[in-house]
Amino acid sequence: MTGASAVTNWAGNITYAVDELHRPRTPDALRALVAGSPAVRVLGSGHSFNRIAEPPPGGVLLSLDALDAGIEVDAAARTVRVGGGVRYARLAEAVDTHGLALPNMASLPHISVAGSVATGTHGSGVRNGSLAAAVREVELLTGDGSAVVIGRDDERFGGAVTALGALGVVTALTLDLEPAFEVEQHVFTELPLEGLDFEKVAGAAYSVSLFTDWRAPGFRQVWLKRRTDQPLPEFPWAAPAREPRHPVPGMPAVNCTEQLGVPGPWHQRLPHFRAEFTPSSGEELQSEYLMARPYAEEALGALDRVRDTVAPVLQTCEVRTVAADGQWLSPAYGRDSVAVHFTWVADAGAVLPVVRAVEAALEPFAARPHWGKVFEMPAAHVRALYPRTEDFAALARELDPAGKFGNAFVRDVLGG
Ligand SMILES: Cc1cc2nc3c(=O)[nH]c(=O)nc-3n(C[C@H](O)[C@H](O)[C@H](O)COP(=O)(O)OP(=O)(O)OC[C@H]3O[C@@H](n4cnc5c(N)ncnc54)[C@H](O)[C@@H]3O)c2cc1C
Repeated sequence: MTGASAVTNWAGNITYAVDELHRPRTPDALRALVAGSPAVRVLGSGHSFNRIAEPPPGGVLLSLDALDAGIEVDAAARTVRVGGGVRYARLAEAVDTHGLALPNMASLPHISVAGSVATGTHGSGVRNGSLAAAVREVELLTGDGSAVVIGRDDERFGGAVTALGALGVVTALTLDLEPAFEVEQHVFTELPLEGLDFEKVAGAAYSVSLFTDWRAPGFRQVWLKRRTDQPLPEFPWAAPAREPRHPVPGMPAVNCTEQLGVPGPWHQRLPHFRAEFTPSSGEELQSEYLMARPYAEEALGALDRVRDTVAPVLQTCEVRTVAADGQWLSPAYGRDSVAVHFTWVADAGAVLPVVRAVEAALEPFAARPHWGKVFEMPAAHVRALYPRTEDFAALARELDPAGKFGNAFVRDVLGG
């Protein structure tokens, strides 16, 4: 992520306007850096595709990855406290050794916990909230170097987790755990769009993902992640795959988590990609939109009508579900949601007009863009999709009166 002179995101489509990435090695060094800097942003694992993490001119960009991981499992309370720089793969392994589990994971285990929950990152499952839903307490380092702890019973909690990095440095998070469970993955192929009963398909297992390239109507693959403590799914709508599949047609499945119904630990099945492999070279851009779930079939129909525009720049499109949560800036705030994700080719010039076409197609469904991905909607439009932005702005003023943790991206969201 850091070259001699360039600090970039994982995909390489963003070069942050900074000279260096600061990596404090101790909490004291972190406090001194924050207190002594006019503006601060934290970079997690850099997997966002836009300028959400970029500091304003003259500000510093820092990473917590040189600090102690600080993973403390409380097996009796079924919680884990984790440092602000830790990635899911490392957390999951530590949690699993205690016979415990996180309720859900994103497609990739290489992303940081703090960065993921800051952007509303999610996996899939009609009853699974975004990853932020597992957070019970946030520890923040504020602009003057003081610490603030906000737990679930604090009225500010609704703004504190999916906070776009705007409230301070998240130095630690405490997450809910549950007893470890096993999952098996079943992949089905060629699910027709016509006659799709989305609720039934999406509810067929603990976590369900539909994949399409939009080159033809319908879905090339459906991935069911079944907890082995739940019944075997009936899936009469498509045929089971006979060999492992990669979500991008034509790519070898070697980096994908095990399929064909072989049971395994939760953290080796819930992500699509194996922790021990680098999933791809970063040769991609991503966009994603979340809508209220009852719109799923209509929204997929609207995308089918623009598939000739979408398909030429698309690697794969994944449709998932996210249960409603109470984070004011969560794209799933107050709505059980369907999430439609696009992995594009790495050519912004070709992709951005298509992103605008997708946004036009999904506009009737009040689609909220994923904070960590590419979107083109005007800021005022995005703001209007969130009923609690005023409350969030008030919380940001309270915790960060000097505006040290703001940037252009956050100001757009808050309207000034
Ligand atoms: C290959 C790939 C797969 C993905 N899969 C999924 C998926 O399955 N589901 C999904 O929803 N998204 C997915 N994403 C998107 C990704 O989860 C988000 O972009 C997420 O923000 C990544 O976390 P990060 O640490 O890399 O964030 P970064 O891009 O590093 O940061 C995101 C935001 O978090 C803030 N932040 C990070 N750490 C801290 C901290 N300690 N304190 C304060 N602020 C902080 C940053 O300032 C920034 O505002 C994927 C992305 C890629 C590249």
